[in-house]
Amino acid sequence: MGRTTLNQKLIGVVAATAAGRRAARTLAAAWPDEVRQYGGAGELRTAFEDCDAVVAFLAVGAAVRSLAPSLGRKSTDAAVVCVDEALRHAVAVLGGHHGANELAERVSAVLGCTPVITTASDAAGAQALDGYGADLGFRVENPELLAPVGVKLLSGAPVGVVGAEDWPLPALDIREGETEALISISDATEAEGLVYRPPSLVVGVGAARGVTAEEVLDAVDRALAAGGLSAASVARLASVEAKAGEAGILEAARRRDWPVVFHPAPELAAVDVPNPSSVVLAEVGTPSVSEAAARYDGPNRPLAELIVPKTKSVPDTGRAAMATAAVARLAVRGRLALIGLGPGARDLVSPRAVAELRRASVVIGLDQYLDQIRDLLRPGAEVRATGLGSEEERAKDAVETARSGRAVALVGSGDAGVYAMASPALDLFADLDDVDVVGVPGITASLAASNILGAPLGHDHAVISLSDLHTPWPAIVRRVTAAAEGDFVTVFYNPRSRGRDWQLGHALDIFRRHRPPNTPIGCVRDASRPGERAWISTLSEFDPADVDMYTVVLVGSSHTRVAAGRMVTPRGYTWSETS
Ligand code: SAH
Repeated sequence: MGRTTLNQKLIGVVAATAAGRRAARTLAAAWPDEVRQYGGAGELRTAFEDCDAVVAFLAVGAAVRSLAPSLGRKSTDAAVVCVDEALRHAVAVLGGHHGANELAERVSAVLGCTPVITTASDAAGAQALDGYGADLGFRVENPELLAPVGVKLLSGAPVGVVGAEDWPLPALDIREGETEALISISDATEAEGLVYRPPSLVVGVGAARGVTAEEVLDAVDRALAAGGLSAASVARLASVEAKAGEAGILEAARRRDWPVVFHPAPELAAVDVPNPSSVVLAEVGTPSVSEAAARYDGPNRPLAELIVPKTKSVPDTGRAAMATAAVARLAVRGRLALIGLGPGARDLVSPRAVAELRRASVVIGLDQYLDQIRDLLRPGAEVRATGLGSEEERAKDAVETARSGRAVALVGSGDAGVYAMASPALDLFADLDDVDVVGVPGITASLAASNILGAPLGHDHAVISLSDLHTPWPAIVRRVTAAAEGDFVTVFYNPRSRGRDWQLGHALDIFRRHRPPNTPIGCVRDASRPGERAWISTLSEFDPADVDMYTVVLVGSSHTRVAAGRMVTPRGYTWSETS
């Protein structure tokens, strides 16, 4: 969504030496659909002309000298990354915000070098103004102000921002004080400073059969002018299904490059409007077309707020108007990212989790997790850290803040949807779909632990939490019994804590009735965290006292065995099942 990605694009790779050619082949093998290999320095300019991006195994100076005569605009030129002979650095040389920074990161991930990023905003870890709100569809009205305002922002001068609170934008690093520049996010014609136009307006259109595009646009422009609204903020035109073939409406949308949607009459009939008409009702089955279509945003979506009521076109000839338009502003729609941070180690946090953390302006979670990722957040992001226990409040706070229009990240360890915050948060939505929700998977404890122990999850397995704080113990016993009887490898989360010290022993007693005494049990405490500890025991010898709330316990199936100190469950059982 809006992020610059080089996927499906052509990356030219230029290499002059044997080491460079080897590295070029590594890139070609890593990205077979994207890479085209070129020869030595002499082919750099060809690669630059042919491709969307270039990786050159050349000195920065050599590359710049060779490309200088070909350089044009940064928005249209190929992005260029140079990598040194020893594969130590991947330098984003040209087009940092047009793919080179990202490509330098990707190259580094494959070749094991360090990305060198020199664009000012990225060096400070801050948001670049030219991409601000791009994934929300913002357009910059006066791009000539991007550079001067960007410089103020980066130099730490106080910059005022108006209108950001209604949009799920990433944090800007703003200083308090007498403002020296202004950023406005506004759909009003009158707006000051560096102006971003958000796609906030829907223009509902009603039309008589045979209407011209000129007349539709006349009604639209009159309605926008009446509200003092900018046409650059029109997200779409909308009308009723009966008008879906009306050439004048389709042509009007095409001329302005606006999408156009047509809603079913019964949906529009249910929308509250100030100017219903019985004539219109008899004709198309809804008492309002322009006002209702402007407000209606789809099933379960909140209605847009009507800001300009039905406005008629004014034909020069004095005949009756054939087009009407009304304008509504879409409801604030925040963003909630549910992010799993993985079991603990930094290199098990997924790149997508990092991107979503940087996308957020409010980050909510347990203090012990947030402390681990503070350095990944954008300067200016608000961090709301809470202690253990207040899960419900955390979920509620995240949802309410997202509903107010902000970009919120709710983080948890492992996967946020596994015995964690995602379900209480999503439960709060009930019927109204008023927030964009993005889930980012994390490596859950069972996977972190199984990889340390060997391959205990090689065949069917069950995951059971032994915490009876939210689940009645008899329900847990029923599931433990079923897993034991079904011969599932079974992973216990929340196996034991100071206040819950007997459940694990009880659960293992159930297993003893169904599995041989030498069945392996693997435990991992603090998987991938400092002090990580793993051990393997057997059903007969296992001591629950070794286990605490930072541990997962994996009970093998009757086929699980220990090979060279590793716990292994065979993938297929070739003998007949007897139990
Ligand atoms: N959402 C988390 C699970 C939360 S429940 C996830 O997907 O991993 C908390 C339980 O998870 C703990 O009691 C423990 O059993 C297990 N756990 C979480 N992280 C762990 C780790 N790094 N090592 C071992 N067990 C862990």
